[in-house]
Amino acid sequence: MDETVELTVLENDKTISVASKFPGHQEELQERDHEFLSLAVEEAYNGVNCGHGGPFGAVVVLNNEIVVQCHNMVLEYSDPTAHAEITAVREACKKLGRIELSGCDMYASCEPCPMCFGAIHLARFKRLVYGAQAEAAIAIGFDDFIADAIRGTAQYQKINLEIKRADGSGAIIAEEVFRNTKAKFQMY
Ligand SMILES: [Zn+2]
Repeated sequence: MDETVELTVLENDKTISVASKFPGHQEELQERDHEFLSLAVEEAYNGVNCGHGGPFGAVVVLNNEIVVQCHNMVLEYSDPTAHAEITAVREACKKLGRIELSGCDMYASCEPCPMCFGAIHLARFKRLVYGAQAEAAIAIGFDDFIADAIRGTAQYQKINLEIKRADGSGAIIAEEVFRNTKAKFQMY
């Protein structure tokens, strides 16, 4: 619903020529983003439900195909670095037989922490789409986020990486993960 409204606004605004020239493309991209981000959110719930770790999910996509979908494995692996995005980078590289993931998109249920952002940068992703803002995770007790890492104030080079927060309901359902898992999930 929100997407439609936003597209209408864009189409009526003659100054946004790309959106008005290619509304179909824009809509398709938003639908695709929503679909893959929803999978990342599903993974966030899966990870908590099977006791693997915190409520975070990540999906790697190449040419509109899912390469891997992962969740936080910190508890399962007894590994503080086994965040969803790191796990997804490792598994995607292994699966594709590559040491970088150029051309791939990363969908993260939540704004990546600095470690994961570093990994996303090193892996040379084309795009990063995230749902919940870091503050939503911090609100239930996670403290390893420094949102500035991807908000333009950090030292990370961003030239080749497009970063966007998901539009519409995708971002909202991603933030609900924390509220819905708060009772079940005990901080480690
Ligand atoms: Zn992380």
